[in-house]
Amino acid sequence: MSRPPHVDTDADAEANADAGSDAGAPPTATAPPDPSSIDTSRRPFVLIWEVTQACDLACDHCRADATPARHPDELTTAEGKRLLDQAREFGPGQLVVLSGGDPLARSDLVDLVEYGTDMGLRMTLTPSGTSSLTSETVAALLDAGVKRMALSLDGATAASHDAFRGEDGSFDQTVAAARAAREAGLPLQINTTVCAQTVDELPALCDLVADLGAVLWSVFFLVPVGRGRVLDPISPERAERVMEWLTEVSEDAPFGVKTTEAPHYRRVAIQRRRDASDAPPTDGIGRRLGITAGDGFAFVSHTGDLFPSGFLPATAGNVRDGGLVERYRESDLFRSLRDRDALGGKCGACEFRHVCGGSRSRAYAHTGDPLASDPLCGYVPADYDGPIPGTRSAGD
Ligand code: SF4
Repeated sequence: MSRPPHVDTDADAEANADAGSDAGAPPTATAPPDPSSIDTSRRPFVLIWEVTQACDLACDHCRADATPARHPDELTTAEGKRLLDQAREFGPGQLVVLSGGDPLARSDLVDLVEYGTDMGLRMTLTPSGTSSLTSETVAALLDAGVKRMALSLDGATAASHDAFRGEDGSFDQTVAAARAAREAGLPLQINTTVCAQTVDELPALCDLVADLGAVLWSVFFLVPVGRGRVLDPISPERAERVMEWLTEVSEDAPFGVKTTEAPHYRRVAIQRRRDASDAPPTDGIGRRLGITAGDGFAFVSHTGDLFPSGFLPATAGNVRDGGLVERYRESDLFRSLRDRDALGGKCGACEFRHVCGGSRSRAYAHTGDPLASDPLCGYVPADYDGPIPGTRSAGD
């Protein structure tokens, strides 16, 4: 695996991870599009389809409030394939993440991966770390064309991960699945939740991500939705220190680093480069937009409802029978989320709003207004004298 260069955006990190995994391969219909070429008002960089809410685990922080049984109104195989047909209309190489619940709870998962791959989608997967994720399953998914698998590790040891997840044995099963993926040649992504309960584990987790041979570490800053409402976020000051540390990690790590629901990571990286003697001083303005909910990012629920992200429970309608592309491009909800000049509070006054924009999901969770300030960001624009939001935090 080639080492990805320093990255500071979700799209760049995703693309570099893909490029690393495909190094040496000829261009194909599913080659990752150049992130800088994607007009996020026309297509998402990432389309997540929550194929089911069913999962054998019952993790304390689950966004999906996962349950053991599949929902009776879940999209059928035929409806799921029609959804993938719609995803293809966004353009070639569309990245589709099959999430859950546990996608492996669906018996048609391999069929869906193969169907999407055959039409030129880049199909990836976020299974749960359970005993059903065997080497045979990994091999079948790889044969079907899956491009990457993401697994969650929220602690660097069995004790800390299993305590956080509330499931004994989860750590060992996840690590075993990660090693099976690597042995099979399937590029691996590790997802980690950052909150008061996990933040001290990050350095050890970083070592584990490298040891597992992952191509990408996706660091999710807690948004209090689903069962995650019972967890404690870190403070804006601690988040700032974590992001500064992540920029250092990204410069030397043998894997890419991206944040989820923390676009101010881009602002931190830009400020860091500005401070470096060899960096252009005005790099913060005028670059392509970063990915945020509804702006490069879209989420389809297990019953076909379209959301700007899985952490922002405001819907632009149901796409079971069509309308995915049109709703992404034209719905009032998605269009408003893409208007960085419509942001309120200090995000609206911030010179970094076009490269950052704050987590719209966290703003919604805290205020009910998706255009409000992100309370996890500690940056205060120079001329801003309005209210400063803050998160309820612990563990600092
Ligand atoms: S104030 Fe808002 S737009 Fe500015 S860096 Fe913070 S989160 Fe991003």
